[in-house]
Amino acid sequence: MHKNFKNIEKVVYGRGSFDTMDGILEPVRKENDNFFLFIVDNYFKGKELEGRLPVKAGDVVRFIDVDPHEPTTELIDSLRDEILASNGLPSGIIGIGGGSIMDIAKAASLMFTNEGSSTLYQGLNLIKKPGIYHLGVPTISGTGAEVSMTAVLTGPEKKLGLKCDWTVFNQVILDPELIASVPTDKWFYTGMDTYIHCVESENGMLNNAFSHAYAEQALKLCQDIYLGENSGHTPENDDKLMVASLMGGLSLTYSEVGVCHALSYGLSKILGEKHCYANCVAFQHLEDYYPVGLIEFREMLRKHNIELPQGLSKNWTEEQITAMANVAYNLPHMWNHAVGPGWKEVITIETIKDLYRRM
Ligand code: NAD
Ligand code: ZN
Repeated sequence: MHKNFKNIEKVVYGRGSFDTMDGILEPVRKENDNFFLFIVDNYFKGKELEGRLPVKAGDVVRFIDVDPHEPTTELIDSLRDEILASNGLPSGIIGIGGGSIMDIAKAASLMFTNEGSSTLYQGLNLIKKPGIYHLGVPTISGTGAEVSMTAVLTGPEKKLGLKCDWTVFNQVILDPELIASVPTDKWFYTGMDTYIHCVESENGMLNNAFSHAYAEQALKLCQDIYLGENSGHTPENDDKLMVASLMGGLSLTYSEVGVCHALSYGLSKILGEKHCYANCVAFQHLEDYYPVGLIEFREMLRKHNIELPQGLSKNWTEEQITAMANVAYNLPHMWNHAVGPGWKEVITIETIKDLYRRM
């Protein structure tokens, strides 16, 4: 009933704050085998940021391509096994990238100290030992993965997070300069993840004054960024989006997400669609659940000339629709929040299949 949530230990915010990393890492370097593992989004390979990584002798830098698939349990297990065999136990992990890289850094931090495959730990509080030091630097904003207590992985059985207090970053560096290069479509979809987090957090039985305060502020920031007089992907709005993402993440942590995220998980698990895009594809059809949010969402789509696909379900097999509906149905905490404790009387596999058929 009452959530006792571990927050990020330290946060530095502001333009240029990326360059504080060297000083932040220095005292941690004494731990374990005295080297850092940098996990960096492949987009930055050969870019100016690569030259600014505070890499010292012995450190390992891995560029990871996060497209088109979301992070898998297999990726985490093999990364851990490889580094342990060739370099030893890192002093810490630095993740630089979007939600995918945040999740890889968080999950790998835990898996360096917990034996066996990460598939064993998908769920709440299954991790046995604290992980190693981990620092997150988001370079695209919206998922709130920089603040959340889960590291979402797709495994052979399920898409589910490694969720516990130790998942949360020790340190986060929020430097809005880093999100300037995000292309407009990704800027839109990922920012909408924050917007949808807030709408869902607000519209459900777990909403409370604490989660509401974060959602209210994050929604206001999203409205400025995507609908305001000076809307658009500008430096001023990037400053705001980074904060909105964090606050949206905090809001849902103290409340819950809802129908859109349940459907989105089905789209990701069965069709491999990426989280933020999948949310947008689903959200546009949820007027029965989020009528007010949807009016604003449609305005945002229009303002930024974003066209979401229609009629997708015509190309889905009945088997795929059923499989997606099963994934969504098996997220009872989301339905419970969105619809109420009696949700099973209202929501059936058939209801969910009909929602997919609207897409
Ligand atoms: P992402 O990390 O998948 O990256 C999206 C794209 O943006 C990639 O092509 C990447 O290369 C590119 N990119 C990133 N930064 C860039 C930059 N500065 N300039 C240009 N391109 C850049 O994106 P995401 O939407 O942030 O993350 C999605 C993932 O986050 C999913 O795997 C989802 O499961 C996960 N997620 C986790 C949580 C959580 O709480 N842990 C919450 C929501 C989503
Ligand atoms: Zn989300």
